[in-house]
Amino acid sequence: MARYTAANCRLCRREGQKLFLKGERCYSSKCALEKRNFPPGQHGQGRKKVSEYGLQLREKQKTKRFYGLQETQFRNLFDKAERKKGITGENLLILLETRLDNVVFRLGFASSRKEARQLVTHGHFTVNGKKVNIPSYEVKAGDVIAVKAKSQNSPKFKEIKDMTITVPSWVTVDVEKLEGKVLNMPTRDEIDTPVAEHMIVELYSK
Ligand code: SF4
Repeated sequence: MARYTAANCRLCRREGQKLFLKGERCYSSKCALEKRNFPPGQHGQGRKKVSEYGLQLREKQKTKRFYGLQETQFRNLFDKAERKKGITGENLLILLETRLDNVVFRLGFASSRKEARQLVTHGHFTVNGKKVNIPSYEVKAGDVIAVKAKSQNSPKFKEIKDMTITVPSWVTVDVEKLEGKVLNMPTRDEIDTPVAEHMIVELYSK
């Protein structure tokens, strides 16, 4: 599948917001947005007026990039959110948050969603004791996500055991065991993604 491979920082500059695509660098003074907080390209600093459609489009692009999804994957998830009971925008965010790659990132087992996706694809995780290597796998309340026994001695995961990890309220983590649990499906209040999801709903409803 085609995946965006150009400079990730350009995406943050395009959205005017940190999308946390490069792990530790995003939290340091090396973050490109700290130095050049304007859109990339020749006319980056000149663009001013944005239409309502433009704002909605940017909100969708930002969310898609934040979670590292391609357009088709994102649209399919939106359609699924629409079919569910409740508020479509909130359903969409919950579906995005409960993807296995995002949960691995939220549990602190990866420094970015991109790294989390790679670790999942390489088969380093189990869900309820069974190996799962599908980044889009949808976790449920009560699921236990753990680093596979064979992978626990790798330097990557060994160093996590010494870390203090802050996780969202809907999950819990045991760094010693390299294991996390989904306590409940996240509510909108428990999702800190800086997005106005109603604008995505408006965009796709046109
Ligand atoms: Fe975005 Fe991270 Fe690059 Fe900063 S360092 S611009 S947050 S990807």
